[in-house]
Amino acid sequence: MKAANDHHITIGLEVHVQLKTESKMFCGCSTRFGAPPNTQVCPVCLGMPGVLPVMNRRAFELAVKTALALNCTIAPLTRFDRKSYYYPDLPKNYQISQYDMPLSHHGFLDVETSAGKRRIDIRRVHLEEDAGKLLHTGAGVSQVDLNRTGIPLMEIVSEPDIHSIEELRLYLDALKLLLVYLDVSNCNMEEGNIRADANISVQRTVNGKEVSTPIAEIKNMNSFSACEKAMAWEAPRLLARLGEGFTMETHPKETRGWDDDHGVTVAQRRKEEASDYRYFPDPDLAPVVMDKDWLERIRAEIPELPKVRTKRFMEQYGLSEYDAGVLVADRKLADYFEEVARLSGDARQASVWVSQHVLRALNTRNIPIDRFGVPAARVAEVIRLVADHAISNTAAQATVWPAMIETGKSPMEIVRQKGLAQVSDASELDAALDAVLAKNPKQVEQFRAGKEGVFNFLVGMVMKETKGKANPQVVTELLKKKLAR
Ligand code: ZN
Ligand code: MN
Repeated sequence: MKAANDHHITIGLEVHVQLKTESKMFCGCSTRFGAPPNTQVCPVCLGMPGVLPVMNRRAFELAVKTALALNCTIAPLTRFDRKSYYYPDLPKNYQISQYDMPLSHHGFLDVETSAGKRRIDIRRVHLEEDAGKLLHTGAGVSQVDLNRTGIPLMEIVSEPDIHSIEELRLYLDALKLLLVYLDVSNCNMEEGNIRADANISVQRTVNGKEVSTPIAEIKNMNSFSACEKAMAWEAPRLLARLGEGFTMETHPKETRGWDDDHGVTVAQRRKEEASDYRYFPDPDLAPVVMDKDWLERIRAEIPELPKVRTKRFMEQYGLSEYDAGVLVADRKLADYFEEVARLSGDARQASVWVSQHVLRALNTRNIPIDRFGVPAARVAEVIRLVADHAISNTAAQATVWPAMIETGKSPMEIVRQKGLAQVSDASELDAALDAVLAKNPKQVEQFRAGKEGVFNFLVGMVMKETKGKANPQVVTELLKKKLAR
């Protein structure tokens, strides 16, 4: 009988990331998203004869910055190659890419799986240019928009080192978070800033010998969830193929597209071999020599990265790994938290307020923190009002906070308007205390007879009498004094 886990999947990912530059990879055209079709083009990106490309220095630096953060070795000398293929959205009939001399190689990215730490090896990070976009407008009509042609693309190629859907998701999430912290891409999935292609195969042990299914290259995955769904769909299909006698030896590789609407992969074409692309060095572009000073300047641009920040939040603010992780997962939310912590002087409360109340408000409204109307200083102010016993914690959460979000007013203003100020003044509380004692003679009697449990009941009655505005600590002290008489 076969064990349930007699097979494992093997995935290698190619992630294409649009870099955050003002202009294209080899010309001065704008990279702005959403312009009318074919308005951001020039002879260079249209592939006219005789034009000369010039490398975008910033794009190169952003790719090197990413490669460094992915622990890659940076090549001292790198060059661009032409990858020849015909496609209607590629006017030059070749894509400028990097072949045998990529700008970096041999990196890794660690992920934390339920079974412990896994290191996913990165084969290379290289630079290339994007192709245009075909718009199939129906009725047999297709149109082409070349605004995207020539936008800088960074390709991050992992080794076939991912062995479960969980690892796939963790790798993609960690990669995206890293890109956000590095600020090298807008990382806008809706605008296609990050696209993944995957190579997947499944290995099964038959009679003590491991056999592999053919490799399927799955294209067109525009979201991480599509990527997960496609892999979960493709693995059993490959296993079924193996059952039909298709192995990596007999059928090495096939290219398929992910159809997100129908949730299936569909055959596209036989996968090209590298030799089909007729790669050769682009004679119009000079090789790039990475000098040490330049490299160090780029290295210095790398900010504090998510892993280090999580560790610092735990040490500096005393947060649990989980709480720190929730904040760090959103770079701007983590910035916001740090400001609340600094201004309130209470990191514990800052963490509670930001990861609970602020996050809940953002989720309800489905907005990011930079579109939230309540500045960090206001959250700090609420925390201070509670700490100073000016308002109760209940009033802060139940009344002041909703009003702050609703009206955009400062907490102090709301406290004044709604008359929420906590009463700590003994003379003001005196009357309430006397009234409670007069109304509950039996309980007073019981307390004096030694039944101390009644005390909390009396405190509760004072809170009720003052509609929750009394400072419970002051009430406790005053009540002790009165009952002692
Ligand atoms: Zn151009
Ligand atoms: Mn590519």
